[in-house]
Amino acid sequence: MRLVYEPKGRAREYAALAANLYTSCTHGCLYCYAPRCMQRKRDLFHTTASVRKNALRLFAADCTEYAEQHLTEPVLMSFVSDPYQPDELELRITRKALEIAAGHKVPIHILTKGGTRAIQDFPILVETGSQAAFACTLTVYDKSWSAKLEPCAAEPEDRLQALKAAHDAGLSTWVSFEPSIDEESVIKFIRLSHSYVDLYKVGAISGDKSLSRISNWRDYGMSVINELEKYEKEYIIKNDLEKELMPDGQ
Ligand code: SF4
Repeated sequence: MRLVYEPKGRAREYAALAANLYTSCTHGCLYCYAPRCMQRKRDLFHTTASVRKNALRLFAADCTEYAEQHLTEPVLMSFVSDPYQPDELELRITRKALEIAAGHKVPIHILTKGGTRAIQDFPILVETGSQAAFACTLTVYDKSWSAKLEPCAAEPEDRLQALKAAHDAGLSTWVSFEPSIDEESVIKFIRLSHSYVDLYKVGAISGDKSLSRISNWRDYGMSVINELEKYEKEYIIKNDLEKELMPDGQ
């Protein structure tokens, strides 16, 4: 494979295969770990939406190989960029990649903070295969707080709207609560979204922990699990949070 890759470490808990068509992201999240991963200067990474050289040609070649090898794992877009950052509406790189994936029946999982910017592509996402899914990262519910934390991402309510639209379009839906910033917001998101979100993935926070209001991770984890079980929702607790739930914190 050329552009599709096997994630390692924490990302591996989300997907066995992933692809980054963009090599930067203008959402500008304060907690973004991508510049460090990509060995890029933070300011430059968040200034323009750069597209990987020959991204679509490389992705098309990978899709051909995927089909020839009879692979079935969904390919997640994206870990170190966002497929629906604002410039996608003009560049249409993600949309073109989805068209290629649909042609080869390569199931795609979209993970984004772009909210309803993605809605127009749902019919193509559906065409990538029965395992296709749409997912959003949700952090804080208050839109002014979100605007400081994730300045150019879609507002929290807009992301919820996109998840509902994805569900209505027949897609599987999931939410990533990682980084976990505010327990009250997470509980509110579950209450608002449980009828149209199929799966929740819950983690802690990597990098700057001062951005999170959560101090007792065990209490946080138990509270979120209780809320999810109240609605009989499927969930995955990521390893970093799972460790906090062990009696001795091991
Ligand atoms: S959406 Fe993801 S890649 Fe983009 S700035 Fe935020 S954390 Fe970084």
